[in-house]
Amino acid sequence: MHRPGDILIDRHRIDARVSELAAEITADLGRSDIRNPKSEITLVPILTGSLIFLADLIRQLPLPMRIKLISVSSYPGGATESRGPRVRQGLTDLPPSLAGQHVLVVDDILDTGQTLSLVRDELARREPASLGTCVLLRKDRPQAQATPVDYVAFDIPDRFVVGYGLDHDDYHRNLPDIVELHPATARQARIGGARGVAP
Ligand code: 5GP
Ligand code: MG
Repeated sequence: MHRPGDILIDRHRIDARVSELAAEITADLGRSDIRNPKSEITLVPILTGSLIFLADLIRQLPLPMRIKLISVSSYPGGATESRGPRVRQGLTDLPPSLAGQHVLVVDDILDTGQTLSLVRDELARREPASLGTCVLLRKDRPQAQATPVDYVAFDIPDRFVVGYGLDHDDYHRNLPDIVELHPATARQARIGGARGVAP
Protein backbone atom coordinates (compact mmCIF):
# COMPACT_ATOMS: atom_id res chain seq x y z
CA MET A 1 0.00 0.00 0.00
CA HIS A 2 1.32 3.47 -0.87
CA ARG A 3 2.35 5.30 2.29
CA PRO A 4 2.41 9.14 2.03
CA GLY A 5 4.96 9.67 4.83
CA ASP A 6 6.73 8.01 7.74
CA ILE A 7 4.92 5.86 10.29
CA LEU A 8 4.46 7.70 13.58
CA ILE A 9 2.50 4.97 15.42
CA ASP A 10 2.32 1.50 13.97
CA ARG A 11 -0.68 -0.83 14.03
CA HIS A 12 0.71 -2.99 16.86
CA ARG A 13 1.11 -0.03 19.21
CA ILE A 14 -2.38 1.14 18.26
CA ASP A 15 -3.86 -2.29 19.03
CA ALA A 16 -2.18 -2.51 22.40
CA ARG A 17 -3.16 1.01 23.45
CA VAL A 18 -6.78 0.70 22.29
CA SER A 19 -7.09 -2.43 24.46
CA GLU A 20 -5.70 -0.57 27.48
CA LEU A 21 -8.02 2.35 26.93
CA ALA A 22 -11.04 0.09 26.48
CA ALA A 23 -10.28 -1.60 29.80
CA GLU A 24 -10.05 1.80 31.50
CA ILE A 25 -13.33 3.02 29.99
CA THR A 26 -15.10 -0.24 30.84
CA ALA A 27 -13.97 0.02 34.46
CA ASP A 28 -15.04 3.68 34.71
CA LEU A 29 -18.43 3.20 33.09
CA GLY A 30 -18.93 0.02 35.09
CA ARG A 31 -18.54 2.10 38.25
CA SER A 32 -21.30 4.49 37.19
CA ASP A 33 -24.93 3.64 37.81
CA ILE A 34 -25.38 1.74 34.53
CA ARG A 35 -27.09 -1.08 36.35
CA ASN A 36 -29.90 1.30 37.08
CA PRO A 37 -32.51 0.29 34.46
CA LYS A 38 -33.16 3.96 33.73
CA SER A 39 -29.55 4.69 32.76
CA GLU A 40 -27.89 3.86 29.45
CA ILE A 41 -24.58 4.36 27.70
CA THR A 42 -24.53 6.35 24.47
CA LEU A 43 -21.39 6.74 22.42
CA VAL A 44 -21.22 9.83 20.22
CA PRO A 45 -18.48 9.37 17.64
CA ILE A 46 -17.50 12.40 15.58
CA LEU A 47 -17.29 11.35 11.94
CA THR A 48 -15.51 10.69 9.79
CA GLY A 49 -12.07 10.50 11.37
CA SER A 50 -13.06 8.44 14.43
CA LEU A 51 -14.54 5.63 12.32
CA ILE A 52 -11.79 3.04 12.67
CA PHE A 53 -10.84 3.95 16.24
CA LEU A 54 -14.52 3.60 17.18
CA ALA A 55 -14.85 0.22 15.47
CA ASP A 56 -11.83 -1.15 17.35
CA LEU A 57 -12.78 0.45 20.67
CA ILE A 58 -16.42 -0.60 20.89
CA ARG A 59 -15.62 -4.24 20.21
CA GLN A 60 -13.66 -4.17 23.44
CA LEU A 61 -16.35 -2.47 25.52
CA PRO A 62 -18.55 -5.31 26.84
CA LEU A 63 -21.38 -2.97 27.82
CA PRO A 64 -24.84 -2.41 26.38
CA MET A 65 -24.67 0.82 24.41
CA ARG A 66 -26.21 2.92 21.73
CA ILE A 67 -24.29 4.85 19.11
CA LYS A 68 -25.32 8.25 17.78
CA LEU A 69 -23.15 9.48 14.94
CA ILE A 70 -22.43 13.13 14.41
CA SER A 71 -20.43 14.70 11.64
CA VAL A 72 -18.19 17.76 12.06
CA SER A 73 -15.80 19.15 9.49
CA SER A 74 -12.97 21.64 9.96
CA TYR A 75 -10.49 20.72 7.22
CA PRO A 76 -12.32 21.17 3.91
CA GLY A 77 -10.77 19.37 0.94
CA GLY A 78 -6.98 19.44 0.82
CA ALA A 79 -6.53 21.83 3.74
CA THR A 80 -3.98 20.95 6.41
CA GLU A 81 -4.89 23.95 8.61
CA SER A 82 -8.17 24.03 10.54
CA ARG A 83 -10.79 26.45 9.18
CA GLY A 84 -12.90 26.16 12.33
CA PRO A 85 -15.35 23.34 13.04
CA ARG A 86 -18.83 23.15 11.59
CA VAL A 87 -21.39 20.55 12.59
CA ARG A 88 -22.56 19.02 9.34
CA GLN A 89 -25.18 16.62 10.59
CA GLY A 90 -26.30 14.50 13.49
CA LEU A 91 -26.90 16.86 16.40
CA THR A 92 -30.42 17.58 15.30
CA ASP A 93 -31.14 13.82 15.46
CA LEU A 94 -30.21 13.71 19.14
CA PRO A 95 -33.11 13.97 21.56
CA PRO A 96 -33.40 17.38 23.28
CA SER A 97 -32.83 15.65 26.64
CA LEU A 98 -30.15 13.07 27.41
CA ALA A 99 -31.33 12.53 30.99
CA GLY A 100 -30.14 9.17 32.33
CA GLN A 101 -27.59 8.77 29.52
CA HIS A 102 -23.90 8.24 30.17
CA VAL A 103 -22.48 9.87 27.08
CA LEU A 104 -18.98 9.30 25.74
CA VAL A 105 -17.83 11.46 22.83
CA VAL A 106 -15.20 9.79 20.64
CA ASP A 107 -13.00 11.82 18.29
CA ASP A 108 -9.91 11.16 16.24
CA ILE A 109 -7.60 14.02 17.18
CA LEU A 110 -7.41 17.03 19.44
CA ASP A 111 -5.81 19.89 17.52
CA THR A 112 -7.26 23.35 18.31
CA GLY A 113 -9.81 21.71 20.61
CA GLN A 114 -12.65 23.62 18.95
CA THR A 115 -14.45 20.52 17.66
CA LEU A 116 -14.51 18.73 20.99
CA SER A 117 -15.53 21.88 22.87
CA LEU A 118 -18.33 22.57 20.39
CA VAL A 119 -19.72 19.05 20.63
CA ARG A 120 -19.31 18.86 24.40
CA ASP A 121 -21.21 22.13 24.89
CA GLU A 122 -24.03 20.95 22.61
CA LEU A 123 -24.34 17.68 24.53
CA ALA A 124 -23.99 19.25 27.99
CA ARG A 125 -27.02 21.39 27.18
CA ARG A 126 -29.02 18.14 26.95
CA GLU A 127 -28.10 17.33 30.58
CA PRO A 128 -26.79 13.75 30.36
CA ALA A 129 -26.14 11.72 33.54
CA SER A 130 -22.43 11.95 32.69
CA LEU A 131 -20.43 13.31 29.78
CA GLY A 132 -16.99 11.92 28.95
CA THR A 133 -14.63 12.60 26.06
CA CYS A 134 -12.14 10.30 24.40
CA VAL A 135 -9.63 11.01 21.63
CA LEU A 136 -7.21 8.79 19.76
CA LEU A 137 -4.57 11.51 19.41
CA ARG A 138 -3.71 14.79 21.12
CA LYS A 139 -1.24 17.17 19.50
CA ASP A 140 1.54 18.85 21.39
CA ARG A 141 0.22 22.39 21.06
CA PRO A 142 -1.13 24.70 23.77
CA GLN A 143 -4.75 24.76 22.61
CA ALA A 144 -4.95 20.97 22.50
CA GLN A 145 -3.25 20.61 25.88
CA ALA A 146 -5.61 23.18 27.41
CA THR A 147 -8.77 21.37 26.24
CA PRO A 148 -10.23 19.12 28.94
CA VAL A 149 -10.48 15.50 27.79
CA ASP A 150 -10.98 12.32 29.79
CA TYR A 151 -9.21 9.69 27.69
CA VAL A 152 -6.27 10.10 25.28
CA ALA A 153 -4.74 7.13 23.49
CA PHE A 154 -1.57 8.90 22.28
CA ASP A 155 0.12 12.28 22.65
CA ILE A 156 1.87 13.20 19.40
CA PRO A 157 4.00 16.07 18.05
CA ASP A 158 2.25 18.96 16.29
CA ARG A 159 2.26 17.43 12.79
CA PHE A 160 -0.44 16.62 10.23
CA VAL A 161 -1.16 12.89 10.39
CA VAL A 162 -3.23 10.50 8.29
CA GLY A 163 -4.24 6.84 8.46
CA TYR A 164 -6.28 4.72 10.89
CA GLY A 165 -9.33 6.80 9.95
CA LEU A 166 -7.65 10.18 9.54
CA ASP A 167 -7.72 11.67 6.07
CA HIS A 168 -6.22 14.24 3.81
CA ASP A 169 -8.80 15.34 1.27
CA ASP A 170 -10.70 12.11 2.15
CA TYR A 171 -7.80 9.84 1.20
CA HIS A 172 -5.53 7.64 3.35
CA ARG A 173 -8.16 6.73 5.96
CA ASN A 174 -7.56 3.06 5.14
CA LEU A 175 -3.87 3.07 6.14
CA PRO A 176 -3.54 0.69 9.11
CA ASP A 177 -0.82 2.80 10.78
CA ILE A 178 -0.78 6.46 11.82
CA VAL A 179 1.46 8.26 9.35
CA GLU A 180 2.93 11.75 9.34
CA LEU A 181 1.89 13.28 6.03
CA HIS A 182 4.96 14.25 4.06
CA PRO A 183 4.93 18.05 3.49
CA ALA A 184 5.60 17.55 -0.23
CA THR A 185 2.60 15.23 -0.41
CA ALA A 186 0.38 17.87 1.16
CA ARG A 187 1.65 20.46 -1.37
CA GLN A 188 1.22 18.08 -4.30
CA ALA A 189 -2.32 17.30 -3.17
CA ARG A 190 -3.16 21.00 -3.01
CA ILE A 191 -1.93 21.53 -6.57
CA GLY A 192 -3.04 18.38 -8.34
CA GLY A 193 -5.84 16.97 -6.15
CA ALA A 194 -5.36 14.13 -3.68
CA ARG A 195 -5.91 11.49 -6.33
CA GLY A 196 -2.33 11.99 -7.45
CA VAL A 197 -1.10 10.64 -4.11
CA ALA A 198 -3.81 8.13 -3.25
CA PRO A 199 -2.86 4.48 -2.70
P1 5GP B 1 -9.82 20.78 16.25
O1 5GP B 1 -11.23 21.29 16.26
O2 5GP B 1 -9.36 20.16 17.55
O3 5GP B 1 -8.87 21.81 15.73
O4 5GP B 1 -9.73 19.72 15.12
C1 5GP B 1 -10.15 18.49 15.25
C2 5GP B 1 -10.50 17.91 13.91
O5 5GP B 1 -9.64 18.40 12.85
C3 5GP B 1 -10.24 16.44 14.00
O6 5GP B 1 -11.41 15.78 14.38
C4 5GP B 1 -9.79 16.09 12.61
O7 5GP B 1 -10.90 15.78 11.83
C5 5GP B 1 -9.13 17.34 12.08
N1 5GP B 1 -7.66 17.29 12.27
C6 5GP B 1 -6.91 17.99 13.14
N2 5GP B 1 -5.61 17.69 13.03
C7 5GP B 1 -5.52 16.75 12.08
C8 5GP B 1 -4.43 15.99 11.53
O8 5GP B 1 -3.25 16.10 11.89
N3 5GP B 1 -4.75 15.11 10.55
C9 5GP B 1 -6.02 14.93 10.10
N4 5GP B 1 -6.20 14.04 9.14
N5 5GP B 1 -7.08 15.60 10.62
C10 5GP B 1 -6.82 16.50 11.59
MG1 MG C 1 -12.83 15.12 12.94
